[in-house]
Amino acid sequence: MSTFPVSAFAPRRARVLALANQKGGVGKTTTAINLGTALAAVGERVLIIDLDPQGNASTGLGVEQRPVSTFDVLSGAATIADARVATHVPRLSIVPATIDLMAFEREAAASSGKHYRLRDCLAAMSASEDPEIATSYVLIDCPPSLNLLTVNALAAADAVLVPLQCEFFALEGLAQLLSTVEEIRVRLNPKLQIHGVVLTMYDQRTSLSDQVVQDVRRVLGEKVYATIIPRNVRVAESPSHGKPVLLYDYRCSGSQAYIRLASEVIERERRIRAA
Ligand code: ATP
Ligand code: MG
Repeated sequence: MSTFPVSAFAPRRARVLALANQKGGVGKTTTAINLGTALAAVGERVLIIDLDPQGNASTGLGVEQRPVSTFDVLSGAATIADARVATHVPRLSIVPATIDLMAFEREAAASSGKHYRLRDCLAAMSASEDPEIATSYVLIDCPPSLNLLTVNALAAADAVLVPLQCEFFALEGLAQLLSTVEEIRVRLNPKLQIHGVVLTMYDQRTSLSDQVVQDVRRVLGEKVYATIIPRNVRVAESPSHGKPVLLYDYRCSGSQAYIRLASEVIERERRIRAA
């Protein structure tokens, strides 16, 4: 009789993390690109799904040509394998988005299973991948809205990672996001967890940033990652060069913070798997 647990032979499905916050400009896309890059740098096989019609993750990764996009995948015209394109970062690929994605809500409105389109596409991807080179992380870059696209992301995800900008109104809107996550857990996706909250754009020159960090930690406790992403001009410049900041300037404080965040994410993943 085998001494191995059955799970040792089961192919490991990709972990799916949704980067979500309905507030605009808080660092969702920047975190998707740079956390994805940092995870790929330590050997993970990472796929970013650009789920925002603005297509910022695609632009920020230098993907200009988008003949097949997230909209084609969600509407069943293409598979993730068809749409996925390589980036300059080894092991990091992306399903790019175009403005067409704005039509998704209308296109899907009357269909059954409209909440599970992305989940089903990811399941098909996992089933067709060679286990030797299978995707280990999927990061979904959500739009700044709690619309059907974000609901698809939350219905497909194992966990949500919430970027929160260090500003006066940081916590505003968070209650609504957390109650949406809870509602999705009850109605659509019982396994959905909050992976963590990452504080972004911390400005060490202002006492306001420190105050926000203290308030957020008091309210959310251990859910907040120890790593804080500083406001750093290199992070803001890198998308216009079509590169993650880790390729643009490896040494800058923003790059170093995203490397630390990736270690924390991997550590939390280890604990989740062991539990
Ligand atoms: P949206 O809601 O529009 O999708 P978002 O939440 O994805 O926005 P980003 O696009 O990642 O937010 O960031 C908003 C802006 O802030 C961008 O111009 C980005 O370059 C800049 N930015 C993000 N993080 C940092 C940082 N750590 N330091 C400096 N600028 C940053
Ligand atoms: Mg964005």
